[in-house]
Amino acid sequence: MPEGHTLHRLARLHQKLFGRAPVVVSSPQGRFADGAAAVTGQVFKQADAWGKHLFHHYTGGHVVHIHLGLYGTFTEAPVPLGLPVGQVRMRIVGSEYGTDLRGPTVCEVIAEPEIADVVARLGPDPLRKDADPALAWKRISKSRRSIGALLMDQSVIAGVGNVYRSELLFRHQIDPYRPGTLMGQDEFDAMWTDLVELMKIGVRRGKIVVVRPEHDHGAPSYGPGRPRTYVYRRAGEACRVCGATVRTAELEARNLFWCPDCQV
Ligand SMILES: [Zn+2]
Repeated sequence: MPEGHTLHRLARLHQKLFGRAPVVVSSPQGRFADGAAAVTGQVFKQADAWGKHLFHHYTGGHVVHIHLGLYGTFTEAPVPLGLPVGQVRMRIVGSEYGTDLRGPTVCEVIAEPEIADVVARLGPDPLRKDADPALAWKRISKSRRSIGALLMDQSVIAGVGNVYRSELLFRHQIDPYRPGTLMGQDEFDAMWTDLVELMKIGVRRGKIVVVRPEHDHGAPSYGPGRPRTYVYRRAGEACRVCGATVRTAELEARNLFWCPDCQV
């Protein structure tokens, strides 16, 4: 699933490609036909993201709210775009570029004030300048749920997915099963600062970079084109730092990865 850095990167890209000009919006597949009709021809004012939610703001007060879910993708190309391939939910065509959105979980038109309803369910987003980490700390420090589960809860911190969750806990040597109530504030503060840095790198480079240079040797990444990780998708392999066997287990329906020796 795309993590928050992907959405912020898309927001920047769409802002650059379409910002402050009228665009033609359609739904070749038909499932977003009414939404597309509401915004087509309007000026694409701005794009921004909060966690894994993307917002396209149009003149007239309409906002297209998108959540990619597990399978959603945007594909950009110079105009003229070819005939739509596959199930294109939304096509945006600007003066020089266009983009096709396929497979999102959410693609809907909402009114500007309704954004507040969406973000009311979300915790602070490390990539937003207005993020208040104190809100996340409040939730974590009062919860008996494991820190591994809390980090994936979008109402605690918005934008963290399984890769950043697993890798952040490894980098801070924290056992993913430790209850939130047993986290120290200094530990949380250090994790938040690190997360902001890591996710900014993710936006800048368009990929997740989490392994420190001194550990970035030995085993390759878990798959072609995938990031090198300490523990994510490395179950059964040797920890890059201590050599112990990386473990995996299911936690709240998502696979968790950790080093039982490094993380306590
Ligand atoms: Zn280890």
